[in-house]
Amino acid sequence: MRNLAFGYSTRCNIKCDHCVAVEGGAFQTMEFARAQELIGHLSEANVKGISFTAGEPFIYLNEINKLVSLCKQHGMYSRVVTNCLWAKTKEFSDQLVTELKNSGLSQLRLSYSRWHQKNVDRNNVLLAASSCQDVGLDYFISFVTDFTALDDPFEEFLREHQLKFFPEPIIHAGRANSFSNSELLTDYQTNCCPMNPYLAPDLTMYACCDAGAHFTKTNFFRLGNLEDTSIDQLFSLSETSRLFNVIRHSGITAIASFAGYKAREIVRYKKCQLCKKLFDSPDQLAYLQRPDILDRLSKWVR
Ligand code: SF4
Ligand code: SF4
Repeated sequence: MRNLAFGYSTRCNIKCDHCVAVEGGAFQTMEFARAQELIGHLSEANVKGISFTAGEPFIYLNEINKLVSLCKQHGMYSRVVTNCLWAKTKEFSDQLVTELKNSGLSQLRLSYSRWHQKNVDRNNVLLAASSCQDVGLDYFISFVTDFTALDDPFEEFLREHQLKFFPEPIIHAGRANSFSNSELLTDYQTNCCPMNPYLAPDLTMYACCDAGAHFTKTNFFRLGNLEDTSIDQLFSLSETSRLFNVIRHSGITAIASFAGYKAREIVRYKKCQLCKKLFDSPDQLAYLQRPDILDRLSKWVR
């Protein structure tokens, strides 16, 4: 099923230390008429779900409401990802959540972490979640964490208020590139990725919506730009790439193992870090993309 992370604008109203989406002072915003047109084209290309993400979508709430409403008209699932800075009072929060629900939004995703909460009172997240519950809009909290004890009080807050949350590992890219790597003590995980593409405001599409745009040495995930290629062609490029399909079905861990990384080394990396190590090195990528190597890789069992 085709899904897409839609970056209407990279503009944000806060500055989180771990942000992957926004770098430097400049931001980009899509032309609204173009964004409206794109929703129709995405539907024609059989895209079934759109997640409005990138910077903070609520800065452009009128536009986002209209885009969400278009998704609804085309029968597409829609999600908005927000930092909840707007949810300062219950009344205001109810009002904005009701607007989105009436526009046809399927789900609101509330970002939450010790980095977000340096800028946004955590009670805002509580208010936004409570509005979703009262208005009848599906929500979940994306609890970004580096799995250290520093996050315990943040997790405790979510549990105390019985909020629906899902822990998401911090991505070591963008501003978080310089963060020290906390040691993970897990078993040997597959690390498969669904790889939903990300459409940036400049209409460049990347095969991965997480750290995809940060593979600057190889541009491994860059699929192309909608100015000169159709949505369907860009999706097809992603779907028919042999290496992307190995990531989807066998996982990053199997590829690292095939490339000669020792098991004890693999377990020290978080998924996206290992991915970057494998695919943001021009020599290693050239090797992994060789047809004879891909033949062996697709049959590789660890
Ligand atoms: S709210 Fe999101 S987009 Fe804005 S600075 Fe924080 S992580 Fe980046
Ligand atoms: S591991 Fe690679 S493909 Fe998977 S989410 Fe991270 S950057 Fe994307």
